[in-house]
This record gives sequence, structure tokens and C-alpha cells, in this order.
Amino acid sequence: MEYRNLGNTGILVSRLCFGALTIGPFQANLEIEQGARVIRHALESGVNFIDTAQLYATYPYIRRAIEGIKNKVVITTKSYAYTAEDMRGSLEEALRSINRDYIDIFLLHEQESILTMKGHWEAVEYLVKAKKEGLVRAIGISTHSVEAVRAAFLIPEFEIIHPLINMSGIGIKDGTREEMLAAIQEAALYGKGLYGMKALGGGNLLDQVDQALDFVISIPQLASIALGMSSVWEVDFNVSYFSGREIKKELRERVSRQKRRLLIESWCTGCGQCIQKCDLGAIKLVGNRPVVNQEICRLCGYCGSACPELCIRVV
Ligand code: SF4
Ligand code: SF4
Repeated sequence: MEYRNLGNTGILVSRLCFGALTIGPFQANLEIEQGARVIRHALESGVNFIDTAQLYATYPYIRRAIEGIKNKVVITTKSYAYTAEDMRGSLEEALRSINRDYIDIFLLHEQESILTMKGHWEAVEYLVKAKKEGLVRAIGISTHSVEAVRAAFLIPEFEIIHPLINMSGIGIKDGTREEMLAAIQEAALYGKGLYGMKALGGGNLLDQVDQALDFVISIPQLASIALGMSSVWEVDFNVSYFSGREIKKELRERVSRQKRRLLIESWCTGCGQCIQKCDLGAIKLVGNRPVVNQEICRLCGYCGSACPELCIRVV
């Protein structure tokens, strides 16, 4: 496994980052021990970087997985907090739940433009203070928008940008793949640490997995690529791929057979709260039942976090 510096932060990360959303309640919904074993397997295979968020509800898995090695792992988390008070709550929850004295990277979750960043500025100021106190090592944003990458690289407080990028541009909200690549290049010139997300387009590129991974791995400005994993065999496949090792035939067949979809459980009450959460408009109420447009759904699972009945999962 290769390791690279995240911009000017001095934080060294493996090229493969463990995306933790997939093990949690909105996707595979693994038992804590089972999910922790998958993360631990990745850590024992050379991965040293875990990406999560307050929204993902995966802190208990990470806490268990890093027992005994907790300061050898680089952890990113994210929050939607607007105010200093709410950001303090988000940080305290992360520290307490993961059982760490610090969080390596704290991001504003899903930023869209300079306007959304300004709206969160009180929360950013809190993170700057937390960084001075040693509670956070680096601050930044995660985003699905080209405009947000362009805005963030001009803001000195943000050292890390976590953009959505894949070979088909699936999920980029406001532009093309080329525009996102150009914004990433420029951000790197400003010394920002970058790591990518949604390399497989939320599972939509699984039938072209080699091309999709080669595409993101070849972007020189990305220090690391976050990939969601929920099984030991997915970890083995990704670690082998990122390490340039030969991949066993059965492992490759298993990956190519894998298809993901959004599952809405039978106990859905038709309340419609999930619809507000989807910024792509990929889920709509038809009668009193949510229906997903599979053509535009990027399988992020965020609608699941809005469901009071816990009935949406990516499976
Ligand atoms: S329907 Fe849900 S999973 Fe699909 S893009 Fe919208 S929020 Fe994400
Ligand atoms: S939020 Fe949950 S219960 Fe409400 S409509 Fe959506 S899936 Fe159904």
C-alpha cells in the first residue's frame, strides 16, 4: 500500500481510504462486531485512513475496530452544524463515541458553494479554535459540487477538500467531470489536501470496476480514494487493486456480480420526509409510497437518515 501526504497538513494517508457509510444502519446495517471486523481487516491490510460522518452513525464500529491502535489511524468525520454550539456538540460526540482525544480531519458535510460555507462560518470558527487546542488536526469540506471546490481552495482555513469524482461524472451536481478535474487541479496548486469519493458512482460503475478505479487512481492530485466497503472480500479486492497485486478470479467474479439498489422496507408510512433530503430529486411520493428513479439515484443513502421509521437502506 502506498501512502501520500494530504496537502500541507503533514497527515500521511493510505491511497485507499475505508468509507464507513456502507457498514452502518443506512446501508449494510452490520452488527457492531461484524462491521468492526471488516474495518480492522482493512487496517491490518495496510489501510490507515477511515472516512465517516456524524450522519452515518458508524462511530461505534470505528471505536471497536481501532481498539489498541487508535492513534495509528487517520480518521475523518463531518458535520452539518451551522453554529459554534452545534459544532462543539458534533466534535464532542465524535471524540466520546470513537474514544479518541482528537479527530484528524473535521469537514463541513456536503457544501455547495461559498454561500453555504458562509452560512456555516460560525461552526468553522469553532473548528479553528478546536484545532488550536489540539482537538482537530485539519479542517475542510466535503462536496458534490464543482463550485464548492472552487470556493474552498481560496479559503485558508480549509486545508482538506473531499470532492465527488468518478469517470462518468455521476453525482456531480453542477458540472462535468472535466470541470471537477480542473477544480481539483487548481485546489492542489493552493496546497489543499484532496481525497476523492464516489469513485464507483454509488455502485453504478461496478460493471466497469477496473476502468473506474484506474480513472481515480490516476488523478495525481488525489492523495487517497474513499471506497465504501462492507465485507472482508471487498476489502481484499480493493487492497489488492490499490497495491497492484494480482486479484483472484473468484474475488473478481464476486465484485462483478455485485449490484446495489435502494431498498424501501414494507413498514414505510408514506410520510414523505425522505423526499426533502434528496437534492437530486431522485425519490418521489407516488400515492403514499416513495419511488426511486434509479437513473439518477447515486445511492448515497442520505434519504435514509431522514426516515423516522429507519426503512431506507442501500443493499
Ligand atoms: S434517492 Fe436517496 S440514495 Fe438516491 S440520490 Fe437521493 S438521497 Fe441519495
Ligand atoms: S421517510 Fe421513511 S417512512 Fe417516510 S416516506 Fe420516506 S421511506 Fe417512508
